Amino acid sequence: MREQTTNSSVEAAYDDYLMPIWKSLNVPVERASGCTLEDFDGNEYLDVFSGISVTNVGHNNEAVVEAATEQLEEFVHGCSYVHPNRPVADLAETIAEVTPGDLQKTFFCNSGTEAVEGAIKLARKYTGSKEVISLEMGFHGRTLGSLALTGNRAYKQDMAPTINDVAHTAPPYAYRCPRCDGDTCGADCADALERVIGSHTSGDLAAVVVEPVMGEAGIVVPSEAWLKRVRDIAHDHGALLIADEVQTGYGRTGELFASEQFGIEPDILTQAKGIANGLPLGAFTAPADIADAFGSGDHLSTFGGNPVACAAALATIEELQNGIIDNARENGEWLSAELATLESDYDVVGEARGLGLMQGIELVDSETTGPQHVAPAPDKELAAAVGEHLREESNVVMGVGGYYKNVMRFQPPLTISQAQLGEAVEALRAALD
Ligand code: PLP
Repeated sequence: MREQTTNSSVEAAYDDYLMPIWKSLNVPVERASGCTLEDFDGNEYLDVFSGISVTNVGHNNEAVVEAATEQLEEFVHGCSYVHPNRPVADLAETIAEVTPGDLQKTFFCNSGTEAVEGAIKLARKYTGSKEVISLEMGFHGRTLGSLALTGNRAYKQDMAPTINDVAHTAPPYAYRCPRCDGDTCGADCADALERVIGSHTSGDLAAVVVEPVMGEAGIVVPSEAWLKRVRDIAHDHGALLIADEVQTGYGRTGELFASEQFGIEPDILTQAKGIANGLPLGAFTAPADIADAFGSGDHLSTFGGNPVACAAALATIEELQNGIIDNARENGEWLSAELATLESDYDVVGEARGLGLMQGIELVDSETTGPQHVAPAPDKELAAAVGEHLREESNVVMGVGGYYKNVMRFQPPLTISQAQLGEAVEALRAALD
């Protein structure tokens, strides 16, 4: 007979039977509800990370669970591309309605990485060009194509060569960028893209790929002017703008999609994470003329657009539109003000920044100058210690990440209340003290 499950028995099984993965949050989860996680030893935690922006309408959301369960009882079949079915059709139509601009046709897959892979293929097919540019420090996934776009070299060690014809350009990381001016991104960062096109490509450009707000880089928010200029440069070179909204999409930044907030209409929009509130689903959407560059069979996925996941996504979108996005916007503004206070109260808080409920503070060693000599050195040891203190002493699960691993990340379920956010901020203060 199997022994009773405890935190340590789950951890031991992970060590013995799973290939090494990232388990830095270290909270095995038996059940979850709203913004609360419960581990196998009966401890409860306030979750302000939501599995990296996945459970946007709250863990175990009743409407989502009901929709998925109903669909499961109705029928399950693995492949939406063999037998057309209602949830896939309804979700595709809904996505056409809720995404910005002329984005109309969707391809469904199972994850963010796959959405990015498919988007690159579509851009290449449509433009007939090969080269792709993405941002240094950006993150787009870990399969070989998406890893090639991922600008963080730490993820690529020993993996080269990935795919050819990918170059990187400067991210709009104003706090640590010698070319940026104060807290806005200067024109020179966009000029850098022109220079990269001139020096690192043959001009045969298929796409420029950006995260409208960079998540894994450490919540890097660009200026609207930078993003619009990047779009214009891409178009001037006959390339598509791909907005990777895997992390920002589905209400995270206070609108359904961050592209809307910056006033851009991407040519291809990738989605995953929050789309089905935890069920595996990814998607990329494009205007009909671009989408139709794919001929029948050019791109397929056996499990892509699973009807149960699509039913969950339909319920998720409805929930988001019933006040949850407004909550993200309003509580995001409140949190932003609280984190700005931390920045003035603590020398070790280098910068507080974010949009909606995608916020972070950068922990620094204020005595030492960091990379590029423009801001204090990142302090990843402090961030790791703060994350542990939050978890062990206050039962708060907060993300620790960013390019330099020194950013405390608030990306809670968007249903979180101001009182719960206040609890997390107080716990953060206690950890910093
Ligand atoms: N793109 C972005 C912007 C991401 O943040 C991530 C994951 O963190 C991915 C793509 C990859 O998504 P997945 O882990 O679902 O493959």
